[in-house]
Amino acid sequence: MIVNVVEYTIRELTMKIIFLGPPGAGKGTQSEFICRDYGVVQLSTGDILRANRKAGTELGRKAQEYMDKGELVPDSLIIDMIKEELKKPELANGYILDGFPRTVAQAEALDKLLTEMSDKLDTTLVLEVDNEELIKRLTARRVDRKTGKSYHLIFNPPPEGADVDLYQRDDDKEETVRNRLKVYEAQTFPLIEYYSAKNMAERVNGLGKIDEIYGEIKKILDKYKK
Ligand code: AMP
Repeated sequence: MIVNVVEYTIRELTMKIIFLGPPGAGKGTQSEFICRDYGVVQLSTGDILRANRKAGTELGRKAQEYMDKGELVPDSLIIDMIKEELKKPELANGYILDGFPRTVAQAEALDKLLTEMSDKLDTTLVLEVDNEELIKRLTARRVDRKTGKSYHLIFNPPPEGADVDLYQRDDDKEETVRNRLKVYEAQTFPLIEYYSAKNMAERVNGLGKIDEIYGEIKKILDKYKK
C-alpha cells in the first residue's frame, strides 16, 4: 500500500516540457537549473548527435556533414533516435527536450509517439533572443574537451587557473552560425505557431542576467508543478 502511494507521488511530479529557441539563446544553461530544481532530465538531440560522432557510430557518421554546415540532420534519423531515447527509464520522472523538435514534421512525429505511449507534454518554453546578440554569443562560445561544459569568453569564462582544454565547435564559426540562424527561422520558428495554436507556448525574454531569466522560467514552470 505504502509502495503504491510512493509510486503515485513520483508519477504526479513528472513534468514534460519542450525548450524552443534559436541556437545560443541559453537553452542548455537554463536546462541545467531546471533539471537541478525540478528533478527532470535534459534530453539534447545536439548532445546525443555529438556523442554519436565521437563514438563513430553510423548515426554519427550520417549526421556529421549536416552538422558541420549548420544544416538540420534529416527528420527520419532524428525521429528514430528520439523514439529510442523516450523509452529510457531515467526519463520516467520527466524531461526537458532541448533542440527537439526542430521542424513541424518532428513535432507531429512527437505528438504521435506520445499518443502511442499514452503520454503528453505540459508545455513549451520559448526563449527569445535577437540575431545580433546570438551571433555575439555563439562565436565566443567555447567547450571544454574534458567535461563537455560550455563557457563564454566574455560572459562566462572558466574560473582563473581552471584545468580546461577549450575548443570552438565547428558549427560556432561565424559563417556557420549565420546559416544555423537562417535554418532556425525557416524550419524551427514555425513551431512557435504550432504550439501557440495548442495553447502550449510560454514565451520568455532571453536577454539579461542568467539568474533573472531563470526567475522568469521558474514562475512559468511552477504553474505546471503537480
Ligand atoms: P544543437 O547543439 O542543438 O545546436 O545542435 C547541433 C546540430 O545538431 C544542429 O545544427 C543540427 O545539425 C543537429 N541537430 C540537433 N538537433 C536536431 C534536430 N532535432 N533535428 C535536426 N538536426 C538536429
